[in-house]
Amino acid sequence: MRDEHKLMIQILMSKGLIGERKLKDIYKTVKERCDVTDNVSLNEFRNVINTKLKEVSMEIRQKPDEDTGEQMYALVQTMESDLGKLTTDYQPQQLELFKKTVGLIMGTPDGKASSTDILNLTEGLEKKMTKQDAEETLDQFVEEQWLKQNEGYVWMTCRSIMELERYLRQTYQPDQCWNCKDIVVKGQVCSQCEIKLHGYCADRLFKDGRRACRNCNHRWV
Ligand SMILES: [Zn+2]
Ligand SMILES: [Zn+2]
Repeated sequence: MRDEHKLMIQILMSKGLIGERKLKDIYKTVKERCDVTDNVSLNEFRNVINTKLKEVSMEIRQKPDEDTGEQMYALVQTMESDLGKLTTDYQPQQLELFKKTVGLIMGTPDGKASSTDILNLTEGLEKKMTKQDAEETLDQFVEEQWLKQNEGYVWMTCRSIMELERYLRQTYQPDQCWNCKDIVVKGQVCSQCEIKLHGYCADRLFKDGRRACRNCNHRWV
C-alpha cells in the first residue's frame, strides 16, 4: 500500500464520516502531501484502496445522508454484522444501550426515537447505567457520528446504516424507499398507503409542487 492510500485511510478513520465535497478537498491535499502526480480520479483511488482493504475485511463505502442527501463516505467493516465490534471505544453497557437504541429507532415508523424513551432504556440494561451516564454516552455516539440528536429526537447517521446494514436487514426487515429502492430508516411515510421515502427523495419527487403520494395519490403530509 502506498503512502497516499495509508494517509487517506488514516483520515477516514479519524473523521468517521466525510461528505463528498470535503473528501474531494482531502484527496487533493493527500495527493499534494504524497507527491502524487498521476491523474487518478477519486473513484479509482477509492477502488484501489478497497482492493487492498479486502484482506482486512474493510472498505470505503458511500451512502447519501438521510437528512441532506449529500453523498457521505466512511470506512466500514464488511464481515461484521453484529454491533459487537462497532468500535473498541465503548464499554459493553454502552454498546448495549446503542443496540437497544437502534431497536427503538427501527421500531418507529419514521426512524427517530425520543431521547426520553432512550434514557428510559437504562432501566432494562443488563449492567445498570445512570441516566446521566446514558446521556453522556448518547453525546459520545453523536460526537462520533453514529447517531444524530435534535429537539428531543435521536436517529441514525448514514455511518451507522452503512456499518450495520447487514445487521439491520437480518434483524429488523428495514423499509425500502419507494423512490430509490435503497434501505431507508429516517424518512417520510404516506399516511394512507404507508410507503416510505427518504426526505431527499420526497424533495425530488415533489419538486413539481404536487405534494401527493405517487403510489396512492393521497395528500403527502
Ligand atoms: Zn430514497
Ligand atoms: Zn400513499
